[in-house]
Amino acid sequence: MDYECVIIGGGIAGTQAAIQLGRYAHNVLVIDAGVGRSTICGSYRNVLGWPDGISGPKLREIGRKQAQSLGVSWVTDEVVEVDCQDGQFVVRTKERELFKAVTILFATGVMDRFPELPNLRSCLGSTMYVCPDCDGYEVKNKRTIVLGSGDTGAYMAVTLSGWTDKIIYVNHEQAPICSELHSRLAELRIEVVAEPIEQVLCAAEGMFSGICLANGRVITGERGFIAFGGNEVRSSLASRLKIERLENKHIMVDPRTKMTSVPNVWAAGDVCAHAEQLTIAMGEGAQAAIWIHKTIMNWRSANGDTRHLH
Ligand SMILES: Cc1cc2nc3c(=O)[nH]c(=O)nc-3n(C[C@H](O)[C@H](O)[C@H](O)COP(=O)(O)OP(=O)(O)OC[C@H]3O[C@@H](n4cnc5c(N)ncnc54)[C@H](O)[C@@H]3O)c2cc1C
Repeated sequence: MDYECVIIGGGIAGTQAAIQLGRYAHNVLVIDAGVGRSTICGSYRNVLGWPDGISGPKLREIGRKQAQSLGVSWVTDEVVEVDCQDGQFVVRTKERELFKAVTILFATGVMDRFPELPNLRSCLGSTMYVCPDCDGYEVKNKRTIVLGSGDTGAYMAVTLSGWTDKIIYVNHEQAPICSELHSRLAELRIEVVAEPIEQVLCAAEGMFSGICLANGRVITGERGFIAFGGNEVRSSLASRLKIERLENKHIMVDPRTKMTSVPNVWAAGDVCAHAEQLTIAMGEGAQAAIWIHKTIMNWRSANGDTRHLH
């Protein structure tokens, strides 16, 4: 099946791009594997229009319905290969479906690394967080436990000291902490516990109340932050197309158009460098879509396709 644009990833950036492209009445397909940062976030609270927060799954569902109502096609599957053949892109999925596209948008995001501790997932976004820019505010003056590893967790604990002075850092993996961060933690009187965690404790579903260590010690807390490092930037598909990436695997894009180093391939959201936030992913998705639209219109006229916007 041929499309004017195939969007790989139906999270925040991909869905916003799909809505924008749907409003130009382009022939668009979103292929989404169904698990991303926006599926594990229980509540976004820094977003205009949602002062009481909105969950990632809910926002995705609203967005997908909006895109589909505009004629965008949607497939739940994982893209395993993208190739360029005779000036067109060929996208292959895990279910062995093949789709052809004039333009491609990578909106595949990032996935956080964390241990599968009991109750951790149910608290994510609601009472346990990953990003101080998004949710530092949520721990203001609250007894906060940072669950992490080595320097990454230590740095998070130091960063959060701007919001609360009641912080304990649990270095779950007991990875080394550099001397500079050790000194900062000591200056800020942040207790460091180097013990593995057995489970996250909840007062109710999604309501973080502390942790239980493998040695049986219980540490109570009102909020949690995770910072294990080693998050996966989902850009491996881009390497086959020889798209320019940073050392940390984020895709490089033109700041104005969001096009990658390969013509007719765009990227938006967390997979790009760098601010990993919902509203930024939305903005980048919309911005990329505007430039994808221009390319599709040029492609149509070069191919004698006289369709205009309906
Ligand atoms: C716990 C948590 C809390 C957060 N809280 C906030 C907050 O309060 N405020 C805020 O602004 N931001 C927050 N964020 C960050 C925010 O969720 C991300 O910035 C946002 O989801 C990025 O959108 P995205 O579309 O780039 O990626 P995602 O939302 O991760 O979507 C990427 C999509 O691509 C799909 N995909 C990946 N690879 C493939 C493939 N090969 N084939 C098909 N599909 C694929 C995935 O299945 C996924 O659905 C939080 C993140 C987490 C994890």
